[in-house]
Amino acid sequence: MISAEEALRIILEAVRAVRGETIGVARAAGRTAAEDITCRTDVPPFDNSSMDGFALRSSDVAAAGPGRPVRLALAGESSAGNPFGAKLPARAAVRVMTGGVIPRGADTVVPLEQAEGAGTGAVLIRAPSRAGSYIRRRGEDIPRGRRVIVRGDLLTPPHIGVLSSLGRTRVSVARRPRTAILATGDELVPPGRIPGPGRIRNSSSYALAGMVEEAGGEPRFIGIARDRKEAIRRKVLRGLAADILLLTGGVSVGARDFVGEVLRDAGVDIRFWKVNIRPGSPLLFGVARRTLVFGLPGNPVSTAVTFLQFVKPALRRMLGQRDVFPFRFAALADESLECGGGKRCYLRGIVRSEAGTLRVRTTGSQSSGVMTSMLAANCLIVLPEGGKALSPGDLVEIELLRDPASGARSGGKRSDA
Ligand code: AMP
Ligand code: MG
Repeated sequence: MISAEEALRIILEAVRAVRGETIGVARAAGRTAAEDITCRTDVPPFDNSSMDGFALRSSDVAAAGPGRPVRLALAGESSAGNPFGAKLPARAAVRVMTGGVIPRGADTVVPLEQAEGAGTGAVLIRAPSRAGSYIRRRGEDIPRGRRVIVRGDLLTPPHIGVLSSLGRTRVSVARRPRTAILATGDELVPPGRIPGPGRIRNSSSYALAGMVEEAGGEPRFIGIARDRKEAIRRKVLRGLAADILLLTGGVSVGARDFVGEVLRDAGVDIRFWKVNIRPGSPLLFGVARRTLVFGLPGNPVSTAVTFLQFVKPALRRMLGQRDVFPFRFAALADESLECGGGKRCYLRGIVRSEAGTLRVRTTGSQSSGVMTSMLAANCLIVLPEGGKALSPGDLVEIELLRDPASGARSGGKRSDA
């Protein structure tokens, strides 16, 4: 059985990046840049004030002191959007507002709070002011010619702001990888139906669709295939038109687990089957022409965990992103933790901050059938292959599943015990 690391290497090696498409910048948050973006103008485009105050010549106030105020005539005003058009006259100041253009001739700004009005038409300055003070220089944020966004950057609201300040209204982003989702199982009925005896609702297709969207893909439902080779085959052939085909269930060694066989017969080149992890060890991965095919185990927790660990990095690499692995960091374990069997384990955990120290416990039962463990969890605890048993107070590695402040159940009775 291969390790998780080896499995990821095989998957990422098979990934081919999708093409770009041009969209409006206002809708680009969450998408991945498919072009480098170089600044064609200086940002800011002109020297401007970072404070409300007075623009003046530093040489005029060099001799100012508490007992020796310098009196400067007020020559006018420069507010944001309304520049003072002329050159600053000798021994004068211009009232300037944040964002206002620094008038020609002025080289410093004295904030309002450090100046005194001397009746209308003049201002008293009681201290020297260094040249350049409170002035935002033209180009100091982004000089013309600088590359500010690199192909593969995940675009966030600040990127949208920067793009807009550069005058961009459209941007090339990676097309969302079309991700077909096919559930398999004689027991499954669509969520809108009342399950008959021995039946359950198909939940994983929809949980997966949500995760696909979060990861930047575009989910497409292929429905439910019964546990018959021909039924699976028909839907697999449809799914192979997508960039990624996700199947759930039927990938283990049960008498009605046909997914591996059907995929092979459909021309999918199986690159691995079974990974040394828990949950999710029956994971299968193959490639058919341009389509990456994942056979995800059927237990909903295994489905979710294998998606996050193996499909999401593939999706992100397909989008052209560079950092595709979940960010991991350490927390103190609240309880004894053990993986066993030499496997890598992904436990559903709840992390919290206690006076700035991260502490983590499990959600309770780690059975892969306990769907609510994903609901309660705000992180995954990653125990390495062959690691020793951990005691309370030991450091463990965790990966956030969501903002820890949002919704993870803390304290009280464990809902999934
Ligand atoms: P399998 O991998 O097909 O043996 O399925 C393992 C377990 O996961 C069984 O209890 C299935 O009923 C359950 N399961 C499989 N697919 C789904 C699904 N799409 N939604 C919810 N549960 C599922
Ligand atoms: Mg099944």
